[in-house]
Amino acid sequence: MKQLERLLFLQGNRCFLCHHPIAPGEASVEHLVATSNGGAKDDENCIVCCKAANAALGSLSIKAKFQAVLSHRGALSCPHVPHAEPQPTSAQPPSELAERIKQVVVDLQKRGSARPRRLSTLKNTINALFKMQLLEADLNLLVDSLAAMGHVVVSDEKVTYALPPRDA
Ligand SMILES: [Zn+2]
Repeated sequence: MKQLERLLFLQGNRCFLCHHPIAPGEASVEHLVATSNGGAKDDENCIVCCKAANAALGSLSIKAKFQAVLSHRGALSCPHVPHAEPQPTSAQPPSELAERIKQVVVDLQKRGSARPRRLSTLKNTINALFKMQLLEADLNLLVDSLAAMGHVVVSDEKVTYALPPRDA
């Protein structure tokens, strides 16, 4: 068994960084301390992640990689994930919805007073955040969840916000 396949198995056949299920063909071994920086090739120094993410991390220092992962605030989505087919809403694990809600809230917080005022604009904004890969049902579920959490108030087409304070 190759290291890639073995580590992938140990990771539950999911990308170490974004937790999406990945096939061995979409995965690659990422050396946390790059081999060009003297990093070892043993399991202690290796993770398996989406090829695109591996390319993006390249031979950054371990500090820079750590920073890149942290900057996604627990909602890292690898670039150009080839398996990101939109799933029917009902088949999504609840954690994925929670992750999306987190991303939307952070994005809306960043917009300050430039937040969408209309429901259709809000949905477009959310869809753009997820690279236009969401279905209408996904968008409705997200908006409904945000409303249920009290983060947004939708009245007819108008949207107002009551977002939680930004993380310090
Ligand atoms: Zn990934």
